[in-house]
Amino acid sequence: MGGLTTAAELAHAGQSVLVLEAHVYPGGCAGTFYHQGYRFDAGATLAGGFAPGAPLDWIATRYGIHWPMKPAAAVMQVHLSDGSVVTRWADPAAWQAERVRAFGVEAEHFWRWQEEQADRLWSLAMRGLPWPPQSPGDLLALAERGGGWLLEQIESMGMNAVADLGLDALRPVAARLGNASPRLREYVDGQLLIAAQATSEDVIGLYGAAALDLPRRGVGHLAGGMGVLAEGMVDAIQKMGGKVLYRHPVKRVRRDGSDWRVQIEGRRVEFSGRQLVMNLPPANAARLLEANTPATLLKRREIPPDGWGAFVVYAGVDGQVFSDTAALHQQILVGQPFSEGNSVFVSVSPAWDGSRAPAGQRALTISTHTRLASWWQLQGADLPAYEARRDSLQDTLLLAAERAFPGLRDGLQLALPGTPVTFARFTRREQGWVGGFPQTSLFRAWGPRLGRGLWLVGDSIFPGQSVPAVALGGVRIAQQVLAAAGGRPKEDWYDNHYLVDPA
Ligand SMILES: Cc1cc2nc3c(=O)[nH]c(=O)nc-3n(C[C@H](O)[C@H](O)[C@H](O)COP(=O)(O)OP(=O)(O)OC[C@H]3O[C@@H](n4cnc5c(N)ncnc54)[C@H](O)[C@@H]3O)c2cc1C
Repeated sequence: MGGLTTAAELAHAGQSVLVLEAHVYPGGCAGTFYHQGYRFDAGATLAGGFAPGAPLDWIATRYGIHWPMKPAAAVMQVHLSDGSVVTRWADPAAWQAERVRAFGVEAEHFWRWQEEQADRLWSLAMRGLPWPPQSPGDLLALAERGGGWLLEQIESMGMNAVADLGLDALRPVAARLGNASPRLREYVDGQLLIAAQATSEDVIGLYGAAALDLPRRGVGHLAGGMGVLAEGMVDAIQKMGGKVLYRHPVKRVRRDGSDWRVQIEGRRVEFSGRQLVMNLPPANAARLLEANTPATLLKRREIPPDGWGAFVVYAGVDGQVFSDTAALHQQILVGQPFSEGNSVFVSVSPAWDGSRAPAGQRALTISTHTRLASWWQLQGADLPAYEARRDSLQDTLLLAAERAFPGLRDGLQLALPGTPVTFARFTRREQGWVGGFPQTSLFRAWGPRLGRGLWLVGDSIFPGQSVPAVALGGVRIAQQVLAAAGGRPKEDWYDNHYLVDPA
């Protein structure tokens, strides 16, 4: 989604754009794939950001996209470890009543803080903030856009509240939870892990407030699954004159004068362009750049020790297992720490969407956070042990999912597990690292500019992971690319560059 939004914005500005995608369908971690009559969401399942003015609404309007989306009333249900269930309603009054029921009126100061801070941060993010600043131009834009925003905040809240905002940029969400009940803490931690990749002791307040806010930003269910977002982007890019080539895995990237040259794996063809945007984690970008890798990238290309992998079960299940009233997204919290099957996210295709599964069945994506290293060690040294761990974790996830949908295992028609090794294979992300940098500091995310005409986009870049965040980052980076290109006349970046074999 990072690369597609960058491409759409550049095509919208009249630039000549080529997207090279390794896979046979678009979307990467937010794609949807076919398997034995099912359409499974590969990773992302919860589509947020459709509220008026939110990223996906803005994008749809700007590029003329009509995504087939039905708003979700019950965004998700969270099963706490004490057996209680909290429903995250989209309607503000219903959500307030539910949270008072679940966490008591004494937690209201936390929720008020969260919503107010999130509103402020989203209004700032939608101004396309060049964070972290990497050039005098970025600093100027930051001062202009951030300064204007800050003045508005001072006028509406006063200086003290603005100082508080500054503190939330440095201290974790836990500072705002104070002596919250264990129940509230568990709920917040579970939600933060899926939205910010760490829990309240580590996620900084500003990010945390915004991450907890996704259900307020317009969540919907997409006919055809999450992948229709990327498919809609591809159509829009093509309508605006851009080109998208599937089955074009980039093997190597090198400098050639003022151009970048791109070699494709398994094809005797090269492309060249003045500006190259890589929709990759830093380690992947360094691998493609080889000797051309900029020093900043060389220094920081490692996958962070707290970076996550995903373990996923794609399941086909008899439709009779699901009631009409249960939310289509369910989080099941089993215990601490919330990884390796202790926090399980279950998403079910809607009953009304016949495109997702054979008649009478539903397509499920069930996932948990997992650490990367042990999967690779086992896969390299002891394949039977790797397979045993995979099968055992699959059973753990299916058992947890039963808490939301009793009878699920009896109705199981098909189960397909995916480990970080699978993610590395299908998305090509090094070691299957997903979710970007855990949101523990404002200074962790990368800036997009790697060098002259060389850019990075995606969930390693501010504002980080999730489809709306990555999309927002993509638009912002396209605008920086345009500014850096200095209004150059429209040029063809791809035609006439078939160096070896035009076929
Ligand atoms: C299990 C899981 C659950 C998630 N749940 C949600 C959710 O519910 N809601 C939400 O909003 N977000 C969710 N996310 C996060 C969201 O999916 C990501 O933040 C987002 O999709 C990342 O997009 P990206 O553009 O950074 O990268 P990617 O999705 O990784 O896209 C990169 C693209 O580049 C292609 N590529 C890679 N290497 C090459 C190469 N050498 N040559 C050519 N092409 C190449 C890949 O095929 C891929 O299409 C989830 C993620 C995971 C893993």
